[in-house]
Amino acid sequence: MILKLLIIGVVIYTVYFLFFKTKPEAKVSKKSAKKESKKPDADEMVECATCGVYAELEECILSNGKYYCSHECLIKAK
Ligand SMILES: [Zn+2]
Repeated sequence: MILKLLIIGVVIYTVYFLFFKTKPEAKVSKKSAKKESKKPDADEMVECATCGVYAELEECILSNGKYYCSHECLIKAK
């Protein structure tokens, strides 16, 4: 009787342990994957074709294969 309870207890503990252990790991791996994919884009700096100022790629305007730091530079280039 005691042995059966022990086995059941161990099985429940193992299931719970596995369940709680795998959940945070999945979250961590998802977060790190997001960070890795975001980092190269955010750090990439491109030179403005008009004024030569370096700006973040996300903030730049791409026109005819050239990057411009602002709309003013894009209008000046045309
Ligand atoms: Zn510019």
